[in-house]
Amino acid sequence: MDMKLDATLCYQAVLSHDTRFDGMFFVGVSSTGIYCRPVCTAKTPLFKNCTFYSCSAAAECAGYRPCLRCRPELAPGNSLIDSPSRLASDVSRRVEEGALNEMSVARLAEEFGVSDRHLRRVVKSELGVAPIEIAQAQRLLFAKRLLTDTNLPITDIAFMSGFSSLRRFNALFQERYRLSPTCLRKSGKGDIEAGKLVCDLAYRPPFN
Ligand SMILES: [Zn+2]
Repeated sequence: MDMKLDATLCYQAVLSHDTRFDGMFFVGVSSTGIYCRPVCTAKTPLFKNCTFYSCSAAAECAGYRPCLRCRPELAPGNSLIDSPSRLASDVSRRVEEGALNEMSVARLAEEFGVSDRHLRRVVKSELGVAPIEIAQAQRLLFAKRLLTDTNLPITDIAFMSGFSSLRRFNALFQERYRLSPTCLRKSGKGDIEAGKLVCDLAYRPPFN
């Protein structure tokens, strides 16, 4: 227990999920061995099981494991040393899974319990690209493979790959690959016929 923290006040913040306290302290729960952010939506622990820490590292040192729901080790301003790279790789993985086809970057940031700005900054500094660029690269890659491996209409491919419009798909495709989806399909077919193309598409839901 950190002497600067008032246990009663902290517990009040936990009860009310008070966002103003997020990142200011963490609560270790002795009955579960897990520590959380005050805003965690998991079941509220009993006061007698709570110990309060001013940083996530202190909770870790006391033997608590980070909660998988609120990810206290990723809380802004109080992260462990390796958190930026971990956050960046976790975000990148979610984006590669198609997260940004369904939600905004702001919503994704919320999922990780960080601000929109923090998420963009960490991803940019760790990976050198913006979250949306990861999504676009993934969409293009997926589309490119569908173009060469399937006979699906190009419009379907655009939407299946996560593009919101055919025009947007064509424009980005042209910009990155310097040829149109139609051209690639033609040249790709040649490869398939010649048996040169290895199909290693990792289909993800809902593309089973
Ligand atoms: Zn939690």
